[in-house]
Amino acid sequence: MAVNEFIPITDAKIATEKEVKKKLSIEELTTIESPGKPVPLSLPAKKQIKKTVSKGKTKKETSSAETITEKDSILIITEKPQAALKIASALGNPIKYSDDGVSFYELSRDGEKIIVASAVGHLFNLTYVKGQKGWPIFDVVWEPSYEHKSAAFTKKYYNVLKQLAKRAKEFIIATDYDTEGEVIGWNVLRFICKQKNAKRMKYSTLTKLELEKSFDNLMPELDWGNARAGETRHYIDWFYGINLSRALMSAIKTSGSFKILSIGRVQGPTLKIIVDKEREIENFKSEPYWQVLAMHDGFEFRHPEDIFDKSLLSQFKDIKEADAETKKTEESLSPPVPFDLTTLQREAYRFHKLNPSETLKIAQKLYLEGLISYPRTSSQKIPKEIEPKKILKALEKVFPEAKEASRSKPIEGEKSDPAHPSIYPTGDYQDLSGTEEKLYNLIAKRFISAFSKDAITANKRVTLTAATDKKLKFKASGLKILEKGWTKVYPAALEESDIPDINGKVKIDEIKILDKETQPPKRYTPASLVTILEKKNLGTKATRSSIIDTLFDRGYLDGKSIKATPLGLKLIEALEKHSPIIIDENLTRQLEEEMEQVHEDKDKEKKENEIIEKVKKVIIDISKEFKEKEKEIGQDLLKGVEVQRKEQNEANTLLPCPTCKKGNLRIMFNRASRRYFVACSAYPDCKQTYTLPPNALMKKSENFCESCKYPKLLAIRKAKRPWELCFNPECEIVKKQRAEWEAKKANWQANKEDKEKSEN
Ligand SMILES: [Zn+2]
Ligand SMILES: [Zn+2]
Repeated sequence: MAVNEFIPITDAKIATEKEVKKKLSIEELTTIESPGKPVPLSLPAKKQIKKTVSKGKTKKETSSAETITEKDSILIITEKPQAALKIASALGNPIKYSDDGVSFYELSRDGEKIIVASAVGHLFNLTYVKGQKGWPIFDVVWEPSYEHKSAAFTKKYYNVLKQLAKRAKEFIIATDYDTEGEVIGWNVLRFICKQKNAKRMKYSTLTKLELEKSFDNLMPELDWGNARAGETRHYIDWFYGINLSRALMSAIKTSGSFKILSIGRVQGPTLKIIVDKEREIENFKSEPYWQVLAMHDGFEFRHPEDIFDKSLLSQFKDIKEADAETKKTEESLSPPVPFDLTTLQREAYRFHKLNPSETLKIAQKLYLEGLISYPRTSSQKIPKEIEPKKILKALEKVFPEAKEASRSKPIEGEKSDPAHPSIYPTGDYQDLSGTEEKLYNLIAKRFISAFSKDAITANKRVTLTAATDKKLKFKASGLKILEKGWTKVYPAALEESDIPDINGKVKIDEIKILDKETQPPKRYTPASLVTILEKKNLGTKATRSSIIDTLFDRGYLDGKSIKATPLGLKLIEALEKHSPIIIDENLTRQLEEEMEQVHEDKDKEKKENEIIEKVKKVIIDISKEFKEKEKEIGQDLLKGVEVQRKEQNEANTLLPCPTCKKGNLRIMFNRASRRYFVACSAYPDCKQTYTLPPNALMKKSENFCESCKYPKLLAIRKAKRPWELCFNPECEIVKKQRAEWEAKKANWQANKEDKEKSEN
């Protein structure tokens, strides 16, 4: 590949600084990949490049110059385009080139020519070797992702890397430093660059300082532990995914029904955890109990035990006097530990109601912008190598509280991660807004608070002991904050409450008895579910939130506080009865542990093959079970499918059809056009339909139209507030809105024509 094949855009040297500051949408910058699935990404400079480089020209120049194949450069391969830009800018003064809309960078450092180019998440996916019928099947290969329509956009990246690899004399992998990143890099290396190994850049932040340090201290080879462990995960998840889906679908087919069903290695046990909670709630019987309060001088003192035996209440009846005692203590509260991913997800949900997967997406974006360190970490440590004092100094501009962060050693948590420190702000700053700002502030404040002083509180506890019966005690407590310490920086639930010192004999003014009822256990929230999965060691920090998303997508879960749907319940019921191994969390956990061992194993490839063989055996066993009991499983699943369909039908039924007066109008979905519409259930006898706005999920609202009294619909769009509308075209309100819209459009059209005239 020749020098002149690098097509410089018009002004060859782009001020990369400017590019960095440009704000991109989350879609443009992130891929929260369910392993193996690349996500589309539009490049920042795409439009600009399209204008300057015509495709035909590129091809022509390529062919005329193909004879020169001098290997003269060091090729650095990153995971995402944004990371390539960051690395190139950190290592030198790069020239930006672009080919078919894909950017790469050239710079020189220590007399060497360095090219920095990127993948776009995964460029390869596992797929089964064609011609394998039925199930179980185990013959798989890595295939370029672009073979799949949904990932066709990855082809340009594949091609650019392929061209650049031809002229590279040395390769450096600089993908994200974890198992997925290593697999992405390794695949590019072996399948595109045709190399067996490469040097490795390891970094946790995309800051100039760290990237330079990382480049000057390259690891001699790939992190084979990560690469092999990552590949193992891809294989076994793939085996589970395809074979269990085929088994489930084949079972449901025996019942004469059709429904796309699937369940994964981690999804099964996760769904079971939720179903178990659902059953606990269903079987819960509320019990009455009583709380006893003693009143003195307007203050409430509570008997510490709840009373479940009503006959015991009588012993409190005659208490008129008590001995009071006040005890005081001082307590210091240490700051909370630094953020690992799960803790960040939990706190982001607690304070801002952000779902774990949203949190990961936003954090990923902040990381790519160089504002925070790598978010997929389980560490709660702040190593001194990151020079935290410098970061604190830099943060002072935006967070004056950082000036008071005087602790010489930060508070740290138990958890660690061999690859990355905890999530921390890099000290670089840019204006943020919305959820990005919220999450960034949370991360920065948590970091500052780890260096802040303890909070000190004065605690007071007043105990009243009944004069008649020394066993009957009542307690009240007070809290005063003596020193706010870290609570000035990071939100804490410290509430002051006042109570005077009381000692000696006191009068009891009244005994109050409160009627209470025990409450059913609470459903999981997305945040508490991620936490419980981590506790049980199911899934990984990087995948837990997407596992939950998948269960929602497949219709097994519903609601903000997570509830299993009838289908989810029946699926677990059927699996418990016929194939409990699928939902056995012990097996899933054991596999997680074995994959962890790949990192340490002397013969990593052998260990990988052992795990894969073990999983094959498990799946063969499951398949046997399934084939034997296929009909029963099918019948059980059918029940779930039917209940779910009935419930969905009810939820989608709007009102009796005004045209035929026999059917009901219902919200329907057209798979081909991917649009919702309203139609009569008496179809084909009644052909009444109504069109609905595109690009929105439509649901029945609880409200009715003020004018025509039809039930209103909710249009739910990504990242927008749900919008309520009336779908009745004969409605006065709808007619008026339409007229207004037509007028506006006409006006706009007229303006445009005027403008064009005046320009000509
Ligand atoms: Zn009708
Ligand atoms: Zn209406």
